[in-house]
Amino acid sequence: MRIFVFLALWAACQSATAPPPVSANAGAQTVRPEHTDTLIPPQYDELGRLVRVQKTDAEWRAQLSPLEYYVLRQEGTERAFTGDLLREKRKGTFTCRGCGLPLFHSEAKFESGTGWPSFWKPIRAEFIAEHEDRSYGMVRTEVECARCGGHLGHVFNDGPRPTGLRYCINAASLDFVPD
Ligand SMILES: [Zn+2]
Repeated sequence: MRIFVFLALWAACQSATAPPPVSANAGAQTVRPEHTDTLIPPQYDELGRLVRVQKTDAEWRAQLSPLEYYVLRQEGTERAFTGDLLREKRKGTFTCRGCGLPLFHSEAKFESGTGWPSFWKPIRAEFIAEHEDRSYGMVRTEVECARCGGHLGHVFNDGPRPTGLRYCINAASLDFVPD
């Protein structure tokens, strides 16, 4: 009997301290019109995990321009020095073009001379997923959006201090929201 009382108290305590449940469609995003700058904050499930965005290939094709689709969903790379956000100098937040997750702040942007927007740190490490990329005879670290899985670019160890990292990101993978 005592064990049942204990379990009942434990369960009541758990439900009292647990965050409110996230609705089933919390991760679903409405389709944005093209080139509308948007920041959609992260949401977390009851276990504290980032709620992911999952869409069908047809939905991605409908939302993204052909270049954005090529880069984000097919791990493509835009031509150097062609990205519209390469020379963006305003203070603000660079968000994922696929799902609006805030990825980089302008304070971490620097001029790398490579022709792609470059950052020395993400807003939060957990917003960036890393994978080993052995394409083109090189071993590189691919970075993608942790929420929607969209390909962003690569991260290298030749960046400026204090991190020494260089996140080399396709402008086509990003939106910009001024402060
Ligand atoms: Zn994303």
